Amino acid sequence: MQKGKLLYEGKAKKLYETGDSDLLIAEFKDDLTAFNAEKRGSEKGKGALNCQISTQLFRLLEQNGIETHLVETLDENHQLVKKVRIIPIEVVVRNTATGSLSKRLGIEDGKKLPFVLVEFYLKDDDLGDPIICDDHAMLLELVDRRETLEELKRLGRKINEVLKAFFAERRLNLIDFKVEFGVDKAGNILLSDEISPDSCRFWDMDTGEKMDKDRFRQNLGNVKVAYEEVLKRILEEKQ
Ligand code: UDP
Repeated sequence: MQKGKLLYEGKAKKLYETGDSDLLIAEFKDDLTAFNAEKRGSEKGKGALNCQISTQLFRLLEQNGIETHLVETLDENHQLVKKVRIIPIEVVVRNTATGSLSKRLGIEDGKKLPFVLVEFYLKDDDLGDPIICDDHAMLLELVDRRETLEELKRLGRKINEVLKAFFAERRLNLIDFKVEFGVDKAGNILLSDEISPDSCRFWDMDTGEKMDKDRFRQNLGNVKVAYEEVLKRILEEKQ
């Protein structure tokens, strides 16, 4: 499958048309951004690592009944994906308080939450991706039915269940993550975008070390080393 016209360029990926109007090619970039792109950087090989990590995790989720946009991986940093209309909601799922949750609500950093928290953020860089409630989502017509919001929460929790157990076996604590969903031609809701250390937080269960984009956000160094370690652990065979 050949890359056609560049359709869209985001912070971490480029999307290209293909000869098939139902399929796109996603290219994972080496760029890193944080704090609504106020902090920018690049890490050679990061795109390829995220492409491989996301491919593995999407396959795992598919095996567990979550439909995704992924068709196949073309090479180390390109995926063939189904064309979808992205629902402009970032679904954030949290097991442990940190980041914006701790800052906004004053919950101690690192506190395990008594239940899985699912939040919605409006996908809008100009507004700085504000947190929204269900009524806001309806008001802005981000989805046409409240049931879709319930479905997004259910999918977020299910993805969390699968990933949390998978990473626990690999001595990584899944702290929180962000996912995006798209709607295909037939109206199916598909997990889209990516799941990678750019969009998740992983803390090493034994050392407490951060193994994700917080290394870039907080200038901790060894960003690529951490992403490589996450991929290595994902590829470990378990019983
Ligand atoms: N996240 C993301 N993209 C965003 C905002 C957040 O992938 O635009 C991820 C982030 O990596 C973390 C989770 O969502 O795993 C929760 O992020 P939080 O709201 O704590 O935001 P931050 O502290 O990064 O501002």
